[in-house]
Amino acid sequence: MLLRGATLVTRWSAPAPLHTADVRITDGVIAEIGATLDPEVDETVVGLNGGLLAPGFVCGHTHLYSALARGMPAADPTPPDGFLEILEKVWWKLDRALDPRSVRASARIGALDALRCGTVGLIDHHASPNFVAGSLDTVAKALREVGCRGLLCYETSDRDGPAIREAGIAENVRFVQQCVAGHNQDGWTAGMMGAHASFTLDDATLDGLATMCQALDVGLHVHIAEGPDDRRETLARYGSGLLSRFEARGLLRPGTILAHGVELTDDEIERAAAAGCHFAHNPSSNLNNRVGFSPLWQRADAVMLGTDGIGADMYTEAKMAWFRGTEATGALSPGRVVALLDASADRLYGALGVRGGEIAPGCVADLQWLSYDSPTPLTADTLAGHLLFGMGAQFVRHVWVGGRWVLRDGAFAEIDEASERANGRSEAVALWGRR
Ligand SMILES: [Zn+2]
Repeated sequence: MLLRGATLVTRWSAPAPLHTADVRITDGVIAEIGATLDPEVDETVVGLNGGLLAPGFVCGHTHLYSALARGMPAADPTPPDGFLEILEKVWWKLDRALDPRSVRASARIGALDALRCGTVGLIDHHASPNFVAGSLDTVAKALREVGCRGLLCYETSDRDGPAIREAGIAENVRFVQQCVAGHNQDGWTAGMMGAHASFTLDDATLDGLATMCQALDVGLHVHIAEGPDDRRETLARYGSGLLSRFEARGLLRPGTILAHGVELTDDEIERAAAAGCHFAHNPSSNLNNRVGFSPLWQRADAVMLGTDGIGADMYTEAKMAWFRGTEATGALSPGRVVALLDASADRLYGALGVRGGEIAPGCVADLQWLSYDSPTPLTADTLAGHLLFGMGAQFVRHVWVGGRWVLRDGAFAEIDEASERANGRSEAVALWGRR
């Protein structure tokens, strides 16, 4: 396929000077970039004639299982009082009600919504305590069918008892080994170990997770310090410090993803960063749960941007990061916010073992095309400002993932979107009723 005549954004945080060029895609990979490339025999030529061709986004932390939760009425008539009650009254009731059909439907709906926004990959944190074994295969299959990449894990926890805890660890191990063994080694999905949060993880569970992270040479994806409750409950239940529980077991290691970090201290952030951890900043979710402002993205480099399950529109999430961050600190640069997007892409493509997150020969062709016709000068220097104050998902018209044209002029090329959404509605009614 030959994409002709768009202005290239070669990388969001560090683009080459913006210029118009043609891009050749061969076998799902960007093969050639040039001012004017001649079509080859039997090559599909797509005349873009303007607009912006840019790398697709990656969401650094999400929960696809919550895709059918929007508009969900409260299961408990008494409103939740604080973050722990939000978990107990909303999310833990929902995840216990998930079955194979609703996990599949939520993954497909979540991925479709992501692709509509130019988001081509998701770093997902999955929980379905009454459907654990095989749940990651269900999510992976849904992502591949729809055309979205993923780095997956199961959210191990002691909150539903030892049998489900053991099933969670086993599901992570099985999926990671399966990816290594080649079943998912097609560049679409990869696995890592996963766990909920310190205050629902017994010491023996952390020991088990650490053993498997080391044996499989993968990181742990876990919530940490999502508000003050995590540290307080960890101290009360386990008599231990928060970060030090993970640190003592070698769970702070390259590849580990620490989500939120709202209440981490500067010293803790530095120790985790020095150990090679990644962080995921989720400003919309933090605002929604009223847990405070996360300082971590100002203190470390490897900070990704996530939605924590509130969709996968990274244009909106970048704006949230900017507005909340600039209110809290008064000292942000737009470029720092945009760097969070590239950190998410780098983490995902690193796990998948392919080059991505930029438009360059040898990178996978995970691209979005925006019908964005700027009324002011758009250059490499002004791009971050345009992303925060001008661009948005409404301009995303085409999306390719691995060279596969998934969104074509605003419509899904291979998916009957109306029937997907109708299926989502019927699954949502059944899911809400099971809580
Ligand atoms: Zn989360």
